[in-house]
Amino acid sequence: MTTDRYGVVGHPVAHSLSPQIHTAFAQQTGIDLQYRRILAPLDGFIATAETFFDEGGRGINVTVPFKIEAFAWCGERVTARARRAGAVNCVAVDAEGLHGDNTDGAGLVDDLQRLLGRSLAGSRLLLLGAGGAARGVLGPLLTTGLRSIAIVNRDHAKAVALADEPRLEARSLDSIGGEAFDVVVNATSASLGGVALTLPSDVLGNARLVYDMMYGAEPTPFLFEAERAGAHATADGLGMLVEQAAESFFVWRGVRPRTEAVRATLRATLQASR
Ligand code: NDP
Repeated sequence: MTTDRYGVVGHPVAHSLSPQIHTAFAQQTGIDLQYRRILAPLDGFIATAETFFDEGGRGINVTVPFKIEAFAWCGERVTARARRAGAVNCVAVDAEGLHGDNTDGAGLVDDLQRLLGRSLAGSRLLLLGAGGAARGVLGPLLTTGLRSIAIVNRDHAKAVALADEPRLEARSLDSIGGEAFDVVVNATSASLGGVALTLPSDVLGNARLVYDMMYGAEPTPFLFEAERAGAHATADGLGMLVEQAAESFFVWRGVRPRTEAVRATLRATLQASR
């Protein structure tokens, strides 16, 4: 029997922690698989993915900047949550061929509920950003029974475009001061550039959980601000990364791996790299 092959396709991709995560899941579940990084040229995602599957590959994760192209490539063969996101981060092969899914939102929901120690039902959430990551998580967030999601984005028109159902509301930054949100999620790429978002400090201080999808060896500038403002709890996106990987593993193999030890190992790896 040959070893089933999986991978993550991106550009760049050298930084991806996915091989470490999936190798750990495979060991834990006793499944024989190989998972590697696959660098695709910027104009070569489809050719790279097709070659991988033609050569017998069983599944890929898709990362920056190819998630929207992967969605178009999968055509009608996508799950409802990928369609809502307009992006694919996980491609699987089954008896009918290839199909695209999006596990980012499920990953965020699982991580938020783990950190809160309860379901998100009834909560008010503030979502910062209206790019690919924000759009990808809205559908799964809404399925949790959240009371409302306020969306704030630098380019307000993009927030308005995302607010397409009654529980979603596009808001401006200067209109949210004094409001109490249970959870604040930073889905902007501001932390990537080391930029802190300037939010009313009571919004951060009142939150039960302030979350930044970005992760790294140090707390992001946004989480630093949240801690200074007195947020009850803060967390970066490492947990989301591991949970979306677990969801992808489930899509491919029908087995849900445990994530706690893998998250702890990755955290230690990141901290050792400081
Ligand atoms: P996009 O490029 O699609 O969107 C970027 C968003 O950030 C836009 O809303 C943009 O606003 C906003 N933004 C960028 N710079 C600033 C700034 N200086 N001030 C305010 N807003 C800013 O990126 P993605 O949505 O794909 O990714 C967003 C973040 O989420 C990244 O940090 C990424 O690493 C992280 N992520 C983490 C994952 C995980 O598993 N932990 C999974 C996916 C993403 P505007 O529209 O006005 O330009």
